[in-house]
Amino acid sequence: MERTLSIIKPDGVCKRLIGNVVQVFEDAGFRIAAMKMKRLSRGEAEGFYYVHKERPFFGELVDFMISGPVVIMVLEGENVIQRNRDLMGATDPREAAEGTIRARWADSKQNNIVHGSDAPESAAFEIGHFFSGIEIC
Ligand code: GDP
Repeated sequence: MERTLSIIKPDGVCKRLIGNVVQVFEDAGFRIAAMKMKRLSRGEAEGFYYVHKERPFFGELVDFMISGPVVIMVLEGENVIQRNRDLMGATDPREAAEGTIRARWADSKQNNIVHGSDAPESAAFEIGHFFSGIEIC
């Protein structure tokens, strides 16, 4: 059993896709172990994306992530990190496989509806960034 962190980004919330995205996860058999909605502070968003801090789009990405509320989830299941990445599709929706969340609903490489941890180490860091142990059911 593995855990991953998922975020429905501000564009996903704004486009009223919370229900659709959660349905994709539940249909895949993932267990939602924690869930919260919040508007990230600049510090929270910068800390979350610190691995990208040298990238040219870092400032733009942080501005986007704090532009509206997000829905943050801990998903649990077998091989859930990779399976969630598969359901999300490639970062750029133009390259995302048909039927994936990003192919279906994303507008651009930045505004791509969802975040999902890419490895066990990042999942552990990202879950700890947003949830304390007692918040995970
Ligand atoms: P992910 O793991 O598929 O989310 O992609 P990355 O870890 O490479 O990038 C993190 C996030 O940064 C992406 O989900 C996008 O929201 C954003 N991003 C990635 N590449 C670009 C880019 O070239 N320009 C902008 N503005 N944002 C980007």
